[in-house]
Order: sequence, then C-alpha cells, then structure tokens
Amino acid sequence: MTTAERSKANPKTADFGASLTFDLSRPGRRGVLLPEPDVPQAELPEPRFLRSDLELPELSQNQVVRYFLGLSRLNYGVDTGFYPLGSCTMKYNPRVNEDVGRLPGFTLVHPLQPQATIQGALAVLHQLQSALAAITGMDSIGLAPAAGAQGELCGILMIKTYLEERGESDRRRKVLIPDSAHGTNPATAAMCGFEVVTIPSDRVGNTDMAALESALDDGVAAMMLTLPSTLGLFDPNIERIAETLHRHGALLYGDGANQNAFLGRARFGDLGFDVVHLNLHKTFSTPHGGGGPGAGPVCVKAKLAPYLPAPVVEADGDTYRLATPERSIGKTTAFHGSFGVLVRALTYIRSLGAEGLRAVSENAVINANYVLARLRGAYHLPYDHPCMHEVVFSGSRQRAKGVKTLDIAKRLIDYGFHPPTIYFPLIVDEALMVEPTESEGKEALDAFCEAMLAIAREAKEEPELVRGAPYQAPLRRLDEATAARRPYLRWRAPAQGESA
Ligand SMILES: *Cc1c(COP(=O)(O)O)cnc(C)c1O
Repeated sequence: MTTAERSKANPKTADFGASLTFDLSRPGRRGVLLPEPDVPQAELPEPRFLRSDLELPELSQNQVVRYFLGLSRLNYGVDTGFYPLGSCTMKYNPRVNEDVGRLPGFTLVHPLQPQATIQGALAVLHQLQSALAAITGMDSIGLAPAAGAQGELCGILMIKTYLEERGESDRRRKVLIPDSAHGTNPATAAMCGFEVVTIPSDRVGNTDMAALESALDDGVAAMMLTLPSTLGLFDPNIERIAETLHRHGALLYGDGANQNAFLGRARFGDLGFDVVHLNLHKTFSTPHGGGGPGAGPVCVKAKLAPYLPAPVVEADGDTYRLATPERSIGKTTAFHGSFGVLVRALTYIRSLGAEGLRAVSENAVINANYVLARLRGAYHLPYDHPCMHEVVFSGSRQRAKGVKTLDIAKRLIDYGFHPPTIYFPLIVDEALMVEPTESEGKEALDAFCEAMLAIAREAKEEPELVRGAPYQAPLRRLDEATAARRPYLRWRAPAQGESA
C-alpha cells in the first residue's frame, strides 16, 4: 500500500460521525403505530405546562436500530481486541461472572428490603470482605466505595479522623506522595485538606530514601504509595519505608490499583501498610469500560476499623446484618456500594481459587516482561530492568525524528489496537505505558509487538505517515481543545440556507 492509499479514510465509516438521528429525521416518519386507545381520553394539563417547540427526530424503526447498532460497532473493548491501556488493567471479564451477577436472586433484591429477606446477598458481601482480608493481609474491609478514587477519599478521611481523635490533626498536616503517583492521590489528599509534599523517585524509579527521610517530621500524617508503582516497579525498600514512617508516627496508605502484579505472593498488611484500597474493576475483572460502575473497597488494620465507611456486614453465626462502625466516616454511596460489581468480584475470586490468583500475577508479570523484551530495541526504556505487570517506554527516540508519542498511539489504531496509556506517568518523557494483563496469550502479544515495531520503522522511514494517523478510524484527529472548551452539547436546527 502506498502512503496515499493508506491515508484514504475508511469508506465504511468515513462520514458516520457526521449524521445524528436529527439529520436523518423526516416529518411524519414513525417507528411504532399505536392502536386506538380503549380507555377514556384524559384532559391534557394546562397549556402553560405543555410545549410544542421540542424538535424530536422522526425516524422509522429500522433507522433507529441501524443507527444505534452502527454506533455500538464503533466501540473498541476487551471483547473486540487487545487493550493494553497501562494502569487501567483492561483484562478479560470471564463470562461466569456475568452468569452469577445476573441471577435473579441478586438482581431483583431491593436495598431497602428487611435484612432478614436479603441474607443471601449479605452473605455474599461478608464472604467478599473475608476473601479480601485474606488476600491483602488486612483486618477489616469496607466495601462501600464505588471507585478507586472514592476508596482513597475514604482511606485518607479515616486517617484524618484517627489523627483527630489522637489530638494530632492540628500538627500533622502533610501527606507525602511520590512523583510517579496517579493524579487521584494528590487530589484526594488536597480534598481532605492536607498539604501535598512530592517525594522524588530515585535513578532506578523507586522512592528516593534520602528525600523521604528529609521530608519526614512530626507534621507528616501519611504517605500514599502505589505498589508496584505506576512505573511497574516493586519498591524493594517497601518494608523500610513503612518502618520509617511509623517511627515518625505517620501512617502508610497503599494505592492497590496494581494488586494484580502480586496477587497471592505478598500482602499489603504484611508489608506494613495501614490502609489500602483495591480496584475490583481492575484486579478482580469486573467490567469498567465507559467509566463504571466500579468498586474500590478500603482495607484497614484493626486500629482504623472503627472509622470504616458504612455499611459493613457483620456475621453472628449464620445471620448477617448491616452495621455502621462505631466512629464511621459515614456513607459514601446511597446503599451498600456497587453490589453487582461485588458479586462479580467474588465470583472471580472463588472460581480461580488461591492457585488461580497466583497464576494471575505470574502471567501478568511474564506478559509485561515479554513485551519489554520484544520492544526494548525499538523504543527507549527509561527504567531498564525487569518490570512487574506493566512496562513504561518512552517515545523520546521517535520524538527526536519529529514523531510524537501521540502520533504513535494514533497509528496503532490503524493497526487495529487500542493504544496504550500515553504521557503518564508524568516523570517519563513521551511516556508509553503498556499493560498487557494476564488474560492475553502469546499470539495477541506478538501481534501487538509486531505493530509497535512496524510503527517504529515507519517513524524512521516515513514519519509523515505516522504523523497523519489514524486513517482507518471513523474520525481522524479531533480538535480536543475546542471540544473541551466550546463543546456542542445540543443539536440545533440548521437555519434556512445553512447546511446541517
Ligand atoms: C485507576 C487508578 C486509580 C483510580 O481508580 P478509579 O477506580 O479509576 O477511581 C488510582 N490509582 C492508580 C494507580 C490507578 O491505576
């Protein structure tokens, strides 16, 4: 294929994004014919409550079906292909989770039912609490938070309340956060009223111990640490970090979004963490495309258990009940958390068992290192040693030839892949963060690596081609700044003489 041929837009989807249901509308066209009413006609409300200026699209039934089916076919998901979005753990969601999640006994219960009638659902929550305590080595679990970020908010609010009760909250105003952290970490600390102090990473990507020591004084409330870090590295000093913080009376918060890297191999609780959140929608395979729903349980050592968000599930023999911990920080969601997600996560844990969960972390790490080994000759590897579940490259070599990491990501779309995470973590120039997850086989990894190698060649030989990508997507490069600043949020009828 020549560059010109390749740069032709995909005819199948070329102008798909240009038409809305409004543009397809013709006056009088209908999707359903309603029978004559066989009940007495009712009076309409007063005219001031009625409006006649609503321009709704008028379409036939097959137009509506084709329109929305067409849109759905533009989706890219883990069920359509490899999705190496670093930090997001876009792993396959086993169908058994869905089978169990859809059982009527789970979907038809109401959160306000008397507790005696939802004992099975409460038993599921209780089992999940126990399973997560065993997996993380923590004492108590709160399942209410609806996302990782909300788990963080709960965890830091719990630390704050704990310090208040010890009379230390006026003094301990700082939270230490590594420069590689996910943005939700500093956002959480700031929302809880703490001052964020950034701790640099050392040359190999771990916590700079000297910088940590010098930042520590009796004004530090906690450190928020991601393990393994967003660079995909397991900090070998983790126990020393915990011990150092505790010596200064500070607590260690764990961002557990990357728990799939060491499931069944090490436990947050044993490593010295005081509180950690998990992302069930990442590690425990519940679907999270499109932003939710998710679940971000907080897992704590006994000293923080009285502050857990409500509700928690307590067991008394075979009887389960919803309880509010003694000094709870309160409620974070209307009812009991994302119940459907919690059912799916427990199904995943129970269907894999202890051995299966160990295999998850083994395969996640092997897959990431396979990608590392295949691509390290073509892309710069700023932290050049074995990684955990994800690998962070830099597009700096290609950048020197005028091809940005953004261009590489766009070009991958033409090769049929969802691009990896780019420009994160912030400390890596032109970052390309690949998380293959444990659920991919060698064929998928090879196909992805071949595409990445081909793009590296193109960047050298035909940089223009890469800079113009994507050619196969329904829309090419969007003006993201305009889309964010001056978005069109509603359809407007074209004025006379104006084209739609
Ligand atoms: C995904 C992620 C978060 C945020 O979790 P959400 O469930 O998206 O709110 C926080 N930290 C890290 C390291 C993550 O990867």
